[in-house]
Amino acid sequence: MTKYKIIFDRKVCIGSGACTSVCPENWELVEKNGEFKAKPKKLEISEEEYTSNAEAAAICPVECIQIEKIKTKKRMIDEDHSDADDEEDDEDLD
Ligand code: SF4
Repeated sequence: MTKYKIIFDRKVCIGSGACTSVCPENWELVEKNGEFKAKPKKLEISEEEYTSNAEAAAICPVECIQIEKIKTKKRMIDEDHSDADDEEDDEDLD
């Protein structure tokens, strides 16, 4: 199940290859116009894949890998329920 999202700033990557050494299952170096840059195989990862990808993020010398937890979407309460009065708290300051 997808739990985390990888945010990768390719422009910042210097192609050191550190991420590919600690997490080869998701990171590879790809050459483009004579320049090597990392490339994630996937941007959404599971809990099991988190540890090695987090190592890749931690070892990256230019910190261009970030991992964000995907939050569960909560259902918003329908505002048509007008029974509940939203009273603002009045602060009485003497
Ligand atoms: S460790 Fe960082 S700079 Fe090095 S290849 Fe991976 S993403 Fe690029």
